[in-house]
Amino acid sequence: MKITDHIKKANNKALFSFEVIPPKKGNSIQELYDNIDPLMEFNPPFIDVTTSREEHVYVDNGNGLLDRKITRTRPGTLGICAAIKHKFDVDTVPHVLCGGFTKEETEYLLVDCDYLGIQNVMALRGDSMAHQKFFEPSIGGHNFATELVSQIKDLNSGKYLHGVIETNHNSDFCIGVGGYPEKHFESPSLQTDLKHLKEKVDAGADYIVTQMFFDNQKYFQFVEAAKKEGINVPIIPGLKPIAVKRHLQLLPQFFSIDLPESLISAVESCKTNKDVRQVGIEWAIQQSKELLDAGVPVLHYYSMGKSDNIKKIASAIF
Ligand code: FAD
Repeated sequence: MKITDHIKKANNKALFSFEVIPPKKGNSIQELYDNIDPLMEFNPPFIDVTTSREEHVYVDNGNGLLDRKITRTRPGTLGICAAIKHKFDVDTVPHVLCGGFTKEETEYLLVDCDYLGIQNVMALRGDSMAHQKFFEPSIGGHNFATELVSQIKDLNSGKYLHGVIETNHNSDFCIGVGGYPEKHFESPSLQTDLKHLKEKVDAGADYIVTQMFFDNQKYFQFVEAAKKEGINVPIIPGLKPIAVKRHLQLLPQFFSIDLPESLISAVESCKTNKDVRQVGIEWAIQQSKELLDAGVPVLHYYSMGKSDNIKKIASAIF
């Protein structure tokens, strides 16, 4: 079912959902299942599965020279989506990236999603590769998520990339896109970023999932500003419980977000990472309660592998 239909069907009752990361190649899918399993009692209508950019590795070719090869440490988002959907009977949402894919490869991926009965996709630009300072589109790929949204909408209306194809069936993807309450790090201002977010919605995005934030005021202000910009699709808040002390440095660095002073002090005063995990859980519970009271459609959690903390949060909220 489409995410937007899940939201309508819930009739103003907030839903629980979460995001998982495919296991690194060489690992079994069982660990992922073991982390999803305890969360299924909270009836998530959908689970997101992230996609990782390709990486360059240098391989010694035996004559003293290095060959550059392209590899993916976490392949298989679509396969993981199909596996989770089949095992848990839940809708899964693959993250589809511009970066690292030609438009043709994206078309094949979307056609496969459709064959597998996957009705929702998150359309994202992706970040730069590790060695790049700025995002560079793949040759024959998209520059911005808006273009990817347009390609998905085209496919929904039976428009394939090259030429007319006789069809007796069109895909009907519900399209999610990313939103940034604290603005995307490349954008010169929040207003400019919102203008581009509106372009994604005008191109056909059906809902927005936000980047993580730790101060709900940022989300509330973002939703207000988005409404003023004419954005009227559901804006799903994304929440991540802090789990280790190093998150104080890593999260602002990777996600360009601020952490509230009181959260920083609470984490800094922890003696062990077990204590930090508890602080993260309590903070996320408080955030979730306030967001629930404000009537958000879904509370979406970034699980980042281990789900014990998400389970504790969900137990307190749902
Ligand atoms: P876009 O919407 O294309 O925006 C990128 C930047 O370009 C913004 O600054 C925007 O303001 C600007 N911009 C947009 N259109 C234009 C235009 N026409 N002209 C000039 N500037 C423009 N990354 C992954 O690699 N894998 C994932 O699975 C993943 N999942 C995510 C899930 C969520 C909910 C979110 C919020 C992010 C996720 N990301 C993921 C990170 C995302 O790929 C990065 O934040 C990326 O840098 C931007 O992606 P986007 O889709 O928001 O880009």
